[in-house]
Amino acid sequence: MGDVHPPSFFSENTSMKQIDLVIQNKTGLHARPAKVLVNLAKQYKADIRIQHGPKKANAKSMVSILTLGAGKGSSITLEVDGEDEDRALDEIANAIRAGLGDTDSHPEPNGQPPPPKPAPVTSPPPTPGVLQGVSAAPGIAVGPAFHFKQTELNLHTTEIQTNLAPAMAQARTQLAHLNQQMKAKKLGAEAAIFEAHIELLDDPELSEAVQARITNGETPAQAWQTSIDERAATIASLKDEILSARAADLRDVGRRVLSIMLGAPETGIQLPSTPVIILARDLSPSDTASFDPERVLGFCIVEGGPTSHIAILARALGLPAIVGAPESILTLPEKTPVILNGNDGTLMPNPDPDVVERAAQIQHRWLEYRKFAQEQSALPATTLDGHHVDITANAKSVADAAEALKMGADGIGLLRTEFLFLDRTVAPTEDEQYEVYRAIAQTMHTSQGNRPVIIRTLDIGGDKPLPYIEQKPEMNPFLGERGIRLCLNRPELFREQLRAILRATPFGELRIMFPMVSDLAELREARALIDELTQELGTRPVQIGIMIEVPSAALLADRFAPEVDFFSIGTNDLTQYTLAMDRTNPALGKKQDGLHPAVLRLIAMTAVAAHQHGKRADICGELGSDVTAIPILLGLGIHELSVSIPAIPTVKALIRTLKLADIQPLAQQALACSTAGEVRALVKKNQTN
Ligand code: PEP
Ligand code: MG
Repeated sequence: MGDVHPPSFFSENTSMKQIDLVIQNKTGLHARPAKVLVNLAKQYKADIRIQHGPKKANAKSMVSILTLGAGKGSSITLEVDGEDEDRALDEIANAIRAGLGDTDSHPEPNGQPPPPKPAPVTSPPPTPGVLQGVSAAPGIAVGPAFHFKQTELNLHTTEIQTNLAPAMAQARTQLAHLNQQMKAKKLGAEAAIFEAHIELLDDPELSEAVQARITNGETPAQAWQTSIDERAATIASLKDEILSARAADLRDVGRRVLSIMLGAPETGIQLPSTPVIILARDLSPSDTASFDPERVLGFCIVEGGPTSHIAILARALGLPAIVGAPESILTLPEKTPVILNGNDGTLMPNPDPDVVERAAQIQHRWLEYRKFAQEQSALPATTLDGHHVDITANAKSVADAAEALKMGADGIGLLRTEFLFLDRTVAPTEDEQYEVYRAIAQTMHTSQGNRPVIIRTLDIGGDKPLPYIEQKPEMNPFLGERGIRLCLNRPELFREQLRAILRATPFGELRIMFPMVSDLAELREARALIDELTQELGTRPVQIGIMIEVPSAALLADRFAPEVDFFSIGTNDLTQYTLAMDRTNPALGKKQDGLHPAVLRLIAMTAVAAHQHGKRADICGELGSDVTAIPILLGLGIHELSVSIPAIPTVKALIRTLKLADIQPLAQQALACSTAGEVRALVKKNQTN
């Protein structure tokens, strides 16, 4: 529940300010807008509450806001009381009216669309006896099944060992330690999960609620558990994928504190000493993070989705994993031999010995390959016949730049600058942006060379609106005012970003790239602005490129080529716009394949035009790290692949096994295929030959 106060609670306070508002967001106050609201509220000293029906939430508490359940069109009252109340009221009301950056889709923090939701397992499994779930992390594991069940924590029969306050302090220390462990493994994004857990642990509304229960006579352990359960149940019932993940996190934090109070071991259950494959209804992020890879080969769970924190952790830890598996996995006898295939989301119980042998070989090869690739990540990606390919990183922060270097990146091929603009209520200033671009340029300017950084100008609109930029409602935002179109219509915003980038150019090798270009006039207008600002600032000329993500740009690549320094093909959007398939629509799932021959032909046209004019054609969409696509893309003449940071070593290692002389004819054959499936089969056949 939100913090429920009698309606008179605030009205008795004469100095309190309040205003009635209507929630405009399509999906109401869900995770992303709630985070924007909480971050904004925390900037003020005033007490800030939001009333929705009988519920009242502390606006500085994420838990509290989420549990309000305020949907689109809900009437709310914003109440502010304290020394800076006037400013707080104005700014928060404006931010709410502007929509707090909400949409009905939920882009991942890195700007990528979420993976498809788990499909209900209604159809019979493809092979008899094979259980079909949803792939959460790639890889193959072979081993005995082990049922992982959380030990019951019984408040009524177990004696309290530690009081609530010291238990919370201990939980904070454990979480900080997990956070450090993840950072030490260079898993920045995963480390953030445990930072979020600390935030939940310190949530002011949760503490107030627990305190109120203790005052009413409950024991601290009961008060803690009931407050967590109530809130987690409310959050989970809001039926929002991102919110459900938050409920699991909240339960995880609750359990951690309770375990400490009851003196239970930190990781719940003892694993056997020989390696196993974990089967469970659900796992918590803490369980997953604590798995020792020597003992856990992979896991398969009934709950969870591919966007859950558990799936993110599994991918980062390199554990093959399946989520959304059928309930029947829970009835498999303990120690049943199973093959877990995280690539296609299948679990095969009791496989024939020859199948086990084959799977074990594949598993072994995959693990060896990954280890080998990591050891060799500093080597260049040069094919067997001497053709060098630059492997750069898709990045979104200074920390990413440092991480990319460690993983052997030749530069940053796509800096998604949206990260600077999202989750805020006002745009970052020119100076703020300059500091970040400068830090990234400096990070990539190493003693071993000045590695290029391609800065993509702001790509918002579509699935990424900003609360402080007014946009008329659009029927089809992906076909609306997005990317370069939006920036050209807001010259002040665009100028500030371009000035910030140009001012940072002396510190490294910065290049500028425009997203969503569909027309030469857009490129010319943007370039003219850069020329004007370069003169004004007295900075040196920079290389300018465009993203090829709209079919019109690919079809006119020969016209664009003389006017740019490089192309970077955004295959995520190019696939979406070529196949007319919304990239965020999970129902279209696997059909959105960048190896569709129509997309490949556009990539080929772009590469040919670039070559004819002595320019580069790079790839920065997800297709660039698809092992089946890589030979085709390079065979079509792509110069550089910009990929997600963890993929850098394996992409480089794969390229070192290819021969340009072989993959060029293969790419031409792919262009003659009729379907994406045919292209994939062609590459597979070639690999086995
Ligand atoms: C793309 O569209 O392929 C791309 C890299 O851009 P984004 O995913 O950020 O839209
Ligand atoms: Mg794009």
